[in-house]
Amino acid sequence: FSVRSLEIFQTNFGDKKGSLLDSIDHTKTAVGGRLLKNFLKSPLVQKEKIIERHNLVNEFVNNNEVTSQIINILSNQPDAERALLRISARTNNPRDLILIINFLKSSELIYFELEKIKNPLIKSLSLDKDTKKRLVSLKETLEKYIVEVPPVNINEGGIFKSGIDEDLDVLRNIKHKKQKEILKMQTNYCSLTNISNLKIKFNNIHGYFIEVTNKNSETLKSFKEEKFNLVQNTVNNSRFQTKELSEVSREIQSSQERSIELEKKLYKQITDFAKELNIEIITLSNKIALVDVISNFANLAFKRNYSKPEICENQIIDIKNCRHPVVEESLKSDLQEFNPNDCEMDKDNFAWLMTGPNMAGKSTFLRQIAISVILNQIGSFIPAESAKIGIFDKIFTRIGASDNLSKGMSTFMTEMTETAKIINEATNKSLVILDELGRGTSTEDGLAISQSVLEYILTEIKCITLFATHFKQLCSLSEKYGCLKLKTLKIKQWNDEIIFLHKVIDGISQGSFGIHVARMAGINSKILNRSKKILDKLANHGGQNV
Ligand code: ATP
Repeated sequence: FSVRSLEIFQTNFGDKKGSLLDSIDHTKTAVGGRLLKNFLKSPLVQKEKIIERHNLVNEFVNNNEVTSQIINILSNQPDAERALLRISARTNNPRDLILIINFLKSSELIYFELEKIKNPLIKSLSLDKDTKKRLVSLKETLEKYIVEVPPVNINEGGIFKSGIDEDLDVLRNIKHKKQKEILKMQTNYCSLTNISNLKIKFNNIHGYFIEVTNKNSETLKSFKEEKFNLVQNTVNNSRFQTKELSEVSREIQSSQERSIELEKKLYKQITDFAKELNIEIITLSNKIALVDVISNFANLAFKRNYSKPEICENQIIDIKNCRHPVVEESLKSDLQEFNPNDCEMDKDNFAWLMTGPNMAGKSTFLRQIAISVILNQIGSFIPAESAKIGIFDKIFTRIGASDNLSKGMSTFMTEMTETAKIINEATNKSLVILDELGRGTSTEDGLAISQSVLEYILTEIKCITLFATHFKQLCSLSEKYGCLKLKTLKIKQWNDEIIFLHKVIDGISQGSFGIHVARMAGINSKILNRSKKILDKLANHGGQNV
C-alpha cells in the first residue's frame, strides 16, 4: 500500500503517466527500463552498495560528454535478451541474429566510451576477459556468416554470405548457371518461333514456363520442331512448357531446396553457438542495463538538479530545498514553480505533526520526503539542494482514503488494516508517513485512534514519522513529548482570499479553510453561506449541533 500511496508505478487512477517511475524513467533500452523498475521494487539497504551507486552516478555526472555519448549509443541498442529468447524458442527469424550483432557492436562502443572515465569504480560495469573474448568471437562469427539484411524467415534462404560453405556455394552456382541457361532458352525460342514477345516466367505452381499472348497460342500448339505443351490459359495469355525447360526448372528447384536445407542446418549451428553464449550475452545485457540506469540517474542530476545525498549511520533526514519530482515537472509544464522545503529530523526530533489548510501542500511534502528516501536507496541522486539521510529498513506510507470492496473492506476498515500493518511491522529504523488518519469514522473515534497511534509511535516504535492531520487537538502532545515538533504550511490571507505559499514552517495551522477550498471547487454560494453560518455557530457552541 505504500507503493500505491506514493504512486510509484502508477497513479491512483491506474495510469503510468504521472507516476514516479514515469517521471524519472528516461532509460533508453528495454533492459534498462526493466532494471530501473526492479530497483524501485527493491531499494537497497546496505550502505556500501548505495554509496557505490551514488559514486558511479557521480562519475557519470562529472564526465557528462561521455555520458551524453553513451546515452546516444543506448538509444539504438537492441534488446538482446528478447532476441535470444526468440532464438531459443526457435521462432526462426534470422534478423534476431542481426539484433545480436548490433547489440554486441554498440556495446563495444559503450565500453570504448566508458574507458575514458578514469576511475576504478567503472570496473564494476566491465566484463571479465574470458566473457569479453567469447562475445567478440560470437560477433565476428555472426558478422562473417550472416548477410546484412537476411530474410525474416529461414525458409526463404539467403541468410548466409557466400564463401563460408563450399557446398552452399556449389548449390547456389547451379541455380545461377541454370538461370542463365533459361535466359538463353528464351532467346532461342523467340527466334525459333518468330514470336518476339515470348517470355519465360516463374511461379510457384508451374515453376518456369513460357508465356505468349493468346494470339500466338496456336503457333506454339502446332509447332513442329519443338513440342510446346500447353499448361494453362489465362484471360490474355497462354502458358507452355517444354521438356528441356521442365528439366532445368526441376534442377533449379532441387538445388534451391537443397541449399535451403543446408542453410537451415547452418542456421541451427550458428544459433546453437549463440545459445551456448547465453550466459555471456545476458551478463553483458545486465551490465548495459546498469549503464543505462546510471546514465539515467546522471541525466536527472544535470537536467533537473538532483544532488548526491550523504549517507548517515543514524536515522536522520536532513534535506535542504527538497522537491516532489512529479509535481515539480507537472508544474513546470504549466510554467509554474515548485516551492522547495527543508526537512530536518533526527533522534531528538523524530516526529513531525503537520497541520495545515486543505490544498496547502501537506500530502505533497510527505510524499516528496518518502520519495527522496526511496530514490536515495536505489542509488539515485535526489530532488533537493543537498541531503544527509540515514538508511531506512522499510517505508510505510498511508495517504488518503480508499476502499477495497472486492476484498470485503470498507474505507475505514482498509485504513485500519493498513495502520495495523504499520504498527506491527515498523521498527525504529523505518520511515512512517501517515496522512489524515481516522478520517473515515466519527470525529471522536478518529481523534482517539489518531492520538493513540501517534503516542504508540512516539513511545514504542520511535521511528522517523511524518503525521499530517486536521485534528489540531493532537498538537498539545508536543508539550508532553519533546521529540514531536509542530509544523504547518504558510498561507497568506488577502481580503477574502487565501494564497498558499507551500512553505513548511514551525507552528499550528490557523484553520482548515475547507469552505474556501469548497468555493474554489465550485460549490454554490447558497451552500457556502450556510456552511459559514454553521461553522461560526459550531465554533461558538463548542461543537454542539446547530
Ligand atoms: P488536503 O488537506 O486537501 O489533502 P494538502 O495540504 O495535502 O491538501 P496537496 O494535495 O499536497 O495539499 O497539494 C495541493 C496542490 O498544491 C498540489 O496538487 C500542487 O499542485 C500544489 N503544491 C503542493 N505543494 C507545492 C509546492 N511545494 N510548491 C508548489 N505547489 C505545490
